[in-house]
Amino acid sequence: MTESIVVPCAHCATLNRIPNDKRVAQPQCGSCKKQIFIDAVFDLDSATFRQQSKGDVPLLVDVWASWCGPCRQFAPIFSEAAKQLSTQCRFGKLDSEAHPALSGELGVRSIPSLILFRNGKEIARQSGALPLVRLLDWLKHNGVDN
Ligand SMILES: [Zn+2]
Repeated sequence: MTESIVVPCAHCATLNRIPNDKRVAQPQCGSCKKQIFIDAVFDLDSATFRQQSKGDVPLLVDVWASWCGPCRQFAPIFSEAAKQLSTQCRFGKLDSEAHPALSGELGVRSIPSLILFRNGKEIARQSGALPLVRLLDWLKHNGVDN
């Protein structure tokens, strides 16, 4: 018997249940029929955040702002991690200027801030950008592995 996992669709945020061993087989969303996992970052807002933070595959949120230099420098690193860990973790960006209430609710005091969620709960947090190798190490240390 294969273990099944619950994962929100990267496109429409519908929760899908899939066999864990089909994770890498480009599973399709039962609702919108697009691929559940994408090898890229996606934007979060107050409506999609709740749903995207659910499920068994962690969501790493990058809280950023367009005026923040370190945030802009970190963006390609975050995208590269999304490419490398496309079925192990999901990578969402939260624009703190567009969504100040949600950023406040998440207790974000400085940007960039990285917050890792699994099953709707925060499991780790990192303030400030990291080089790619250290980001991957940090994720691994928190149970996200490729
Ligand atoms: Zn979908």
